[in-house]
Amino acid sequence: MSFYKAEYIWVDGSQPTSKLRSKGMVIPVGEEPPTWGFDGSSTNQAPGENSDCVLNPVFICPDPVRGGNSKLVMCEVLLTDMTPHPSNTRAACAAAAEKYAAMDTWFGIEQEYTYFDGAKPLGWPDNGFPAPQGGYYCGVGADEVFGRPIVEEHMDACLAAGLAISGINGEVMPAQWEFQIGPIGAPAVGDHLWVARWLLYRLGERHGVSATLDPKPMRGDWNGAGAHTNFSTSLMREDYDACVAAAEALKSRHDLHIVNYGHRIEERLTGMHETCSYKEFRYGVSDRGASVRIPWQVARDRKGYIEDRRPNANCDPYVVTGLILETVCGAAS
Ligand code: ADP
Ligand code: MN
Ligand code: MN
Ligand code: MN
Repeated sequence: MSFYKAEYIWVDGSQPTSKLRSKGMVIPVGEEPPTWGFDGSSTNQAPGENSDCVLNPVFICPDPVRGGNSKLVMCEVLLTDMTPHPSNTRAACAAAAEKYAAMDTWFGIEQEYTYFDGAKPLGWPDNGFPAPQGGYYCGVGADEVFGRPIVEEHMDACLAAGLAISGINGEVMPAQWEFQIGPIGAPAVGDHLWVARWLLYRLGERHGVSATLDPKPMRGDWNGAGAHTNFSTSLMREDYDACVAAAEALKSRHDLHIVNYGHRIEERLTGMHETCSYKEFRYGVSDRGASVRIPWQVARDRKGYIEDRRPNANCDPYVVTGLILETVCGAAS
């Protein structure tokens, strides 16, 4: 009999920010990845005396790390009665997407992250700091760019896995980068983003470099890391007023979104470094100091999408997209 390798990936119960976990299974060729289990007492998902949790595959793709016929198996976590585990944020997101399926919603998430070499950002000097921000965003050259080989490897891996990656760029702080997933629907955008995050960490292992989604990895005059979430309904893609109405709907539930957009969001949304303070909500055309930006092409074309700039890099995309669906589609229906 011949076999293939399947790496099962899931989101754990770590607080205040969940972490990715994974483990491998050897499966006979010709069989689909089955449901599996794990020890929830080691992942903050169960007490020791009742520790079994269920891994239910929700998204399966080629594994570009192992190659060949290997698979990555993104899972949701269930209780043994097959209902969603309390840490399972995907179930509610999927339910919201189902409820508003007729609106044909799309999401594009810009995942920012930072490479670390031990205790400092990759390429930073052992003592002191690199030159101030200004030249690094979309920069080129060995004096400004740190980690490019890993970024390229990650982009290739995402493509080989069939993820909806749409681009990469170097960010404002040196050693900080971004990749974008989308536009696709929910909860698929969350599935793809979690797998892309897993690949980011996994490929970092090869290079001895860690990637972090810390929203404010360096204090002081250095940009934080976000996960701008671009969003549209079929109506918004045809009608500018619907784009404005979506921004207004987000305004009406600002505080609820802020507390669900990632731990330590107040450290990042200070009102400086291309953010609007978490204490206020503003939207505007081309405004990168706003909570929600309407891209200039959208204002020109009188149709398109809006960008919610508030989510932290360490947000849960199932939570963010589920909440946007409830707020924007709820207000429109
Ligand atoms: P920025 O200028 O903010 O850096 P990016 O180019 O990094 O923008 O990201 C824009 C994101 O918006 C991409 O992920 C893209 O797929 C997504 N996007 C484009 N059109 C739409 C749309 N109609 N609905 C939702 N997302 C969209
Ligand atoms: Mn971007
Ligand atoms: Mn960015
Ligand atoms: Mn953006």
